[in-house]
Amino acid sequence: MQRTGLYAARTTNPILRDETRKLIVDYISDPSSSSNVSDAYAQETFATAQQTYDLLVAQGWPRPDGWFGGWITLSIRKPWIWTSQHGSTTSGVFGQPWITINPVKTSQGANLKTTVAHEMGHAFQRQLTTNLSTKWFDEASANAIAWMLLGNQADLTTDLSSFPLLPNSSIPSGFYRGYSTDEAYAAGSFAIWMEKNYPQSILKTYQRLSWDPRYWYDSYGTFAEATGAPNEMATLVHGWGKWYWSQQEYPVSGLDLSHLRPEIADWSGVTIQQARPAASSDRADVAASVAFAPQLRGKDVVASFRTNGTGQDAVIYGDNHICTSPPGTLTELAVMNHLTQPVKKLGTYGTYACYRVIVSNYDLSDAAEIEIRIYSPHVATISPSSGSRNGGYPLTVNGTGFGAGGANTRVTVGGWNCPVTAWSDTRVTCTMPALPSTGPYAVQVQTQEFVKTNTVTFTAN
Ligand SMILES: [Zn+2]
Repeated sequence: MQRTGLYAARTTNPILRDETRKLIVDYISDPSSSSNVSDAYAQETFATAQQTYDLLVAQGWPRPDGWFGGWITLSIRKPWIWTSQHGSTTSGVFGQPWITINPVKTSQGANLKTTVAHEMGHAFQRQLTTNLSTKWFDEASANAIAWMLLGNQADLTTDLSSFPLLPNSSIPSGFYRGYSTDEAYAAGSFAIWMEKNYPQSILKTYQRLSWDPRYWYDSYGTFAEATGAPNEMATLVHGWGKWYWSQQEYPVSGLDLSHLRPEIADWSGVTIQQARPAASSDRADVAASVAFAPQLRGKDVVASFRTNGTGQDAVIYGDNHICTSPPGTLTELAVMNHLTQPVKKLGTYGTYACYRVIVSNYDLSDAAEIEIRIYSPHVATISPSSGSRNGGYPLTVNGTGFGAGGANTRVTVGGWNCPVTAWSDTRVTCTMPALPSTGPYAVQVQTQEFVKTNTVTFTAN
């Protein structure tokens, strides 16, 4: 007799039971069902659920056994709606988590293990927060739980690459709203960064959310307590941003994050202007243009930093990879901020193939205007270009990148000091010293950062 419908589905349901952990996996082994899976598929689901359970219990998460000592049920079923989902989790009537794994969207291996670990993460979250609707940190931290279990074998690249520039927008200031659903999955990188640097901070976040509803309105304060990090905004925004944009580790290492690629096309350099929203960061990849690179090679490069606020900074790395590739080996050249490091010599152009400039606004202000300039101090012309060797008259040096002046600045004529009378970024005036003889002398400017420019010839007669 051909059995059909619900009765058929029920009678072809093998069940895997774990009496110790109170875990059930039920699945369909009827080839005529769209939810049919192999025994191996179900066993992998079962084993991954057990491993995630043990990982989270070992971390101190409360066992999700419901109000009356219930079970976690994982049903492998093609869902009636939301068929694009890999899985879903709800709390049952008595608080027992009910997980559905979609066999149509989820293939064995990394994909299935990541889905099961992610949904098991939700089962444990629900135990502390009992919320039914999805909040951004639920998705972010469920992805981080999959990463905790599977490490670099977790299948998170697709989730991250749908919003690869995520740190570019503000970290939500609360838990009720902020990121869209897809951004929330991509925010797995944030939860991974936090857990890497502050172990158990995801659990501590959920504990706080379960203790007091006021935490739901203050994610920065909650993360500060969960991590114990001082100056929470700077730590979260700058720390995550620096880790994310430098792309040294999974799961961000393989993403294509190049979107700002300003080129240095002349001596005046390139200016990166950023109107940064609160709690956000971004990266620019800077190199000289093909035409200008040969002239710039071997010359000193300087970065300057300006902002209209106080909670902004920029980290500049030298990279051995070209700007169009993902970052390779990075060397930190400067951490710039308005107070202690507004101008910094980056060294000689050509040592690195690309500068990676990571800009952060860790303020609560959405009105941060950040400006970073990367340039090479250079003398273009002098006036006059010849004159009496007795000196005493003004010499004007025109160019770019001389900076704002300061105690270390000099103009020299053949090594003789030319006392400065006026200084600006593009023009310096000094009083020509007396020179020992007639003939050619090299005129050179030294900036406050001890950068020495090219030389231009003055002829004494
Ligand atoms: Zn989820």
